[in-house]
Amino acid sequence: MSKRDYYEVLGVSKGASKDELKKAYRKLSKKYHPDINKEPDADEKFKEVTEAYEVLSDDQKRAHYDQFGHVDPNQGFGGGGFEGFGGFEDIFSTFFGGGSSRRDPNAPRQGADLQYTMTLSFEDAVFGKETEIEIPREETCETCHGSGAKPGTKPETCGHCHGSGQINIEQNTPFGRIVNRRTCHHCNGTGKQIKHKCSTCSGKGKVKKRRKISVKIPAGIDDGQQLRVAGQGEPGVNGGPSGDLYVVFYVRAHEFFERDGDDVYCEMPITFVQAALGDEVEVPTLYGKVKLKVPAGTQTGTKFRLKEKGIQNVRGHGKGDQHIIVRIVTPTKLSEKQKQLLQEFAEISGQVPQGEHEESFFDKVKRAFKGD
Ligand SMILES: [Zn+2]
Ligand SMILES: [Zn+2]
Repeated sequence: MSKRDYYEVLGVSKGASKDELKKAYRKLSKKYHPDINKEPDADEKFKEVTEAYEVLSDDQKRAHYDQFGHVDPNQGFGGGGFEGFGGFEDIFSTFFGGGSSRRDPNAPRQGADLQYTMTLSFEDAVFGKETEIEIPREETCETCHGSGAKPGTKPETCGHCHGSGQINIEQNTPFGRIVNRRTCHHCNGTGKQIKHKCSTCSGKGKVKKRRKISVKIPAGIDDGQQLRVAGQGEPGVNGGPSGDLYVVFYVRAHEFFERDGDDVYCEMPITFVQAALGDEVEVPTLYGKVKLKVPAGTQTGTKFRLKEKGIQNVRGHGKGDQHIIVRIVTPTKLSEKQKQLLQEFAEISGQVPQGEHEESFFDKVKRAFKGD
């Protein structure tokens, strides 16, 4: 299976800015989110998009990617263990570690990172909350303490590779004799062989478990952002540290508020009478209702700002504002009496809409046609 180019996955150009990447990621992650999209390949697409964004949004990983492209985990780096974006560090450290793919099978290695997608309500993202998630992950087998050998026995050094985890394959080519190093397939590169396997884990040293992890969601987290929970990824190998858990948030839309960064926007319908005469109206905010003065002569589309009624910045840098956009609603069902009053109103005012200080629309039209 060959991987698609990350830029192609996100539908952006090679020179895309962080902002463009973020926008593309938001759009696509919503489109393919498994909670929303029930097509059979949505899950794969979602993972692909997330992986592409993980790499391209990280300056260092993006630079590596631009230089080397995809690194196929199955080609010569010991194979296996490549989980999402978490495997990169490992592969690249091998890349830059002297040009050889040889690696000590007994050296401690960090466990793979894990990713978990969490769907949040608009309010939970705004105010944060503490919650528990259950993630399947591999854990060190308690019966054999990770050795994979039946209690009372020990893994033995692999006789084929003598514990190095690598074997030499010699080949005669027109250019002379070439020695290739390959992962020893008798021990899968571990350098050990287990004669008497632990029955709990069948010799793997690890067992799949569902583990409950408490996650504190910070107030102000936004769609597409992620939280790193250190040390909650897969366990390390040979005593290495555990990987990390990345919780990626997907935030559901709100029926009234729209969010842009730390600011929230909403539309406020008012009657044309309120707009013309002015009024005091109640506006919902994230923190309860507030009164807003609508001055006489308010036009549709007029914006009002409620300072610091927006969202707490996730990094603690203050609060956003709430913006209210007024929409004047034209009545559709009028009683006879209302119609009559409006008729009278029209007769007094004349039929042309006019602001007090503005040139009327029709004056402008006239002027445009005269050409001056
Ligand atoms: Zn075991
Ligand atoms: Zn071996």
